[in-house]
Amino acid sequence: MRARPHHLIDIVTQIGGGAAFTPHAYGHAVHLVAAEVMADPDLTVTFVVGADDICEPCIHLVEGLEGAHCDDVLRQFDPPISKQDYNDDLDRRLLEFLGLCEGQALTFRDYLVLIRERFSGIEEICTHPGEDLTSRRNKLNRGLETFGV
Ligand code: SF4
Repeated sequence: MRARPHHLIDIVTQIGGGAAFTPHAYGHAVHLVAAEVMADPDLTVTFVVGADDICEPCIHLVEGLEGAHCDDVLRQFDPPISKQDYNDDLDRRLLEFLGLCEGQALTFRDYLVLIRERFSGIEEICTHPGEDLTSRRNKLNRGLETFGV
């Protein structure tokens, strides 16, 4: 599986928050990837900064001169910013925080162990605009516990 590091953290956080996974209007594969990692936490994940298996079926993944990219826009920023740029920056900062490199592969479970080891302060990076830091940290913590980490 190819995954943006923050996409998997978002999934674990959603699990910790108890929210159900349902197909999204964008057509992306969050619900499918969530089901995959819950069914087999030992599957191997290759970390990417760019389109991943979640993006693959998304209506916002478009082909460009430099390959597939996200054409969605984050309108909660003023001025709005490209989701591709926002995500790339977020994922680079997460990889650095966790001591990982783009292209590195780990099992999903080992990724969770790494997040647990470096848990303190990770919410400062992975909390999205408009979200509450404490709530984000608590839900991620519960999500890790769900996997026994
Ligand atoms: S990052 Fe963009 S292409 Fe990927 S799932 Fe989100 S909206 Fe879709």
